[in-house]
Amino acid sequence: MTDISATQPSAERDTQDPEGGSPAGKTPFHALDLESSLMRGIEDLGFEHCSPIQAQILPYTLEGHDAIGKAQTGTGKTAAFLITIFNDLLCNPVDSERFLAEPRAVIIAPTRELVMQIAADAYDLGRHTGLETATLIGGEDYQKQLQKIQSGVVDLVVATPGRLIDFMQRRDLFLDRVETLVLDEADRMLDMGFIPQVKRIVRATPRKEDRQTLLFSATFTQDIINLAQQWTFEPITVEIEPERVATATVDQRVYLVSSDERLRVLLNVLRSPDAVSTIVFANRRDQVRSLYEKLRKAGISCGILSGEITQQRRTKTLANFKDGKIAVLVATDVAGRGIHVDGVSHVVNYNLPEDPEDYVHRIGRTGRAGATGVSISFASEDDAFLLPDIETLLGERLKCVAPPEELMD
Ligand code: AMP
Repeated sequence: MTDISATQPSAERDTQDPEGGSPAGKTPFHALDLESSLMRGIEDLGFEHCSPIQAQILPYTLEGHDAIGKAQTGTGKTAAFLITIFNDLLCNPVDSERFLAEPRAVIIAPTRELVMQIAADAYDLGRHTGLETATLIGGEDYQKQLQKIQSGVVDLVVATPGRLIDFMQRRDLFLDRVETLVLDEADRMLDMGFIPQVKRIVRATPRKEDRQTLLFSATFTQDIINLAQQWTFEPITVEIEPERVATATVDQRVYLVSSDERLRVLLNVLRSPDAVSTIVFANRRDQVRSLYEKLRKAGISCGILSGEITQQRRTKTLANFKDGKIAVLVATDVAGRGIHVDGVSHVVNYNLPEDPEDYVHRIGRTGRAGATGVSISFASEDDAFLLPDIETLLGERLKCVAPPEELMD
């Protein structure tokens, strides 16, 4: 499971957010008053707090409103629309007779892989709900998929547009009872030439005033905006900017140093005049604490940000850093994620992070708001093996060099 609202604890890792014991500004799922069987699925998955898109969109979509979301994979958009669908289906059971091949909700997505991923998420989230999901994708046995549709009432259908049209044309599936329609990755459906099929599918569902429509797209081109206007009724719009992977505004340097050279190089970096505001990351709380103490002994004015520090202290430290009263912050990854300060000149990775995603989060603390920043990562004999995975995620090679002489003095 990828946790996008809070890093999962592991033995020595820091698990607290710098802004609060229960992370400040985060919406816990239990605050949304969801149906209990759905809530159990959410709990099983270990989700505690809404991701940003969930926090922004769910209060509206759970009330039945339409929504347009600008969000990429990795933001938690899938759970956002699945929770909306399941909660609605559970809260509004159908009293009259149900018929085969008449789903109450339909999700269409451009690729088979994406459809299967959504269906797997639906299975996980909905496992205690008793709701039935069917997956319709091209390239696989039609009869088998038909059997599923005909074997009992299906509540949710997740499909690629082409295969869904096949089912509709053969009158094996009817969309006139659809209450919620989700169009995922609309921009890709457009790029792949699926819009005529999607239009047919949308026309086969009830009028937009009589259904709930949720449309997601990673980009908002004029074409997408036009389609969204046609298909949705008084929607709210939510835009989530992705965390940038590798950033053009960060000068990434990797210095090959031996373990016992690290502190000296770090001190020289921190003493250089252009390091006006620096965050130093270490992997574990004990490393952060010991580094903080060494820096203080060396006369560096610095603050510490990790889960073992009291909330009050952390808030104060962060405020002092934002105000420029302290120039250096030593932090763990979890504590570091909550730091939204523009004007951070340097990020130092005292240790390379074990999770490549953490590298991206760390260096993303600098080079914000159009400014340029410097990231300096130390690679030593004991952690250089972590570099290839980071490079894979970044999609670029990182040049490893010996530190310049002035940093070795
Ligand atoms: P998606 O953007 O829908 O592809 O989701 C990205 C990943 O985040 C998936 O692995 C989800 O299981 C996970 N996820 C979604 N919502 C949450 C949440 N609120 N807390 C933790 N993980 C989540």
